[in-house]
Amino acid sequence: MEKVLIIGAGPAGYTAAIYAARANLNPLVIAGPLPGGQLMLTSDIENFPGFIDPIPGPELMEAMRQQSERAGARYNYSQVTEVDFSKPPFKIWTDGDETFESQTVIICTGASSRMLGLPGEKEMIGKGISTCAVCDGFFYKGKDVIVVGGGDSALEEASYLSKIVNTVTLVHRREKFRASKIMQDRVLSLPNVTPVWNAAVEKILLTPEGKLRGALLKQIGSGESIEKKCDGVFVAIGHIPGTEVFKKWLDLDEEGYIKVQNGFRTNIDGVFAAGDCVDRVYRQAVTAAGMGCMAALDCERYLSFMS
Ligand code: NAP
Repeated sequence: MEKVLIIGAGPAGYTAAIYAARANLNPLVIAGPLPGGQLMLTSDIENFPGFIDPIPGPELMEAMRQQSERAGARYNYSQVTEVDFSKPPFKIWTDGDETFESQTVIICTGASSRMLGLPGEKEMIGKGISTCAVCDGFFYKGKDVIVVGGGDSALEEASYLSKIVNTVTLVHRREKFRASKIMQDRVLSLPNVTPVWNAAVEKILLTPEGKLRGALLKQIGSGESIEKKCDGVFVAIGHIPGTEVFKKWLDLDEEGYIKVQNGFRTNIDGVFAAGDCVDRVYRQAVTAAGMGCMAALDCERYLSFMS
């Protein structure tokens, strides 16, 4: 039986692993098949303290993983499919057909991209629709693209793409961006980025061969529809917490984020949660890492009271 089992391997999970390992708790991290979380899709991180020069997200994640392994953390790369938190030891099943038992669990499952919900959208991911400019921008070199959203992610995507593509049309459903002022100033000064305010993507337009040829934009208010030719649509409209597998056991808020109290304790004694799966406000690598640290300290204290 494990003392500490950590589910998820982004900044929160890796930091929880570093702290739990250094507390001699020999943590096992169920990292999933694609560990590293959202930072694996981030080019340059300029705001993680301690790095004078920008650091690529995957490089930072790999450093955290190695640091945790050096401290004694162990890794399993399968996906958690079911949990039983009815009483300790908690049971965790994975798609690797393994079952784990642990005295405590720290959930650090992060969040994933929200989609527009348009017909055919899912099928077109990787074939004209993308949620990651860093991953897919290269395929649109010299072409025209749409970015949907008005937060920091959308503006970051637009800024990144502007250096590769011909034009970026930035479609936002309101007349004001949600993104930070510095990001707004940067993006609105780019000559090949054009905002379209108060608009929503109503439909993805395809050629008879099934290739993306544009999008139908609906003006909110007037209801007028505009056909916009483009080669790609980048969706950057926020995130959904990765908490589905826990909803039977844990108190979640209306958007599915895990509710924590008294530090990073969930409603079940011995189950803790940290990072983007609990945080809809800050969502930064550094805040996720900080929460991972605090959850591991809470967990260590819990175990020392139990022994
Ligand atoms: P966000 O701040 O929640 O912004 C989501 C955007 O998408 C909003 O503009 C929202 O419109 C729009 N939106 C949501 N649902 C929509 C829908 N169904 N259709 C059309 N538009 C929709 O999410 P985010 O941009 O992913 O950022 C998340 C957090 O990470 C933020 O705290 C952000 O500051 C941070 N972040 C920081 C950096 C950085 O510092 N370098 C980079 C990326 C993200 P409304 O504005 O009308 O709600």
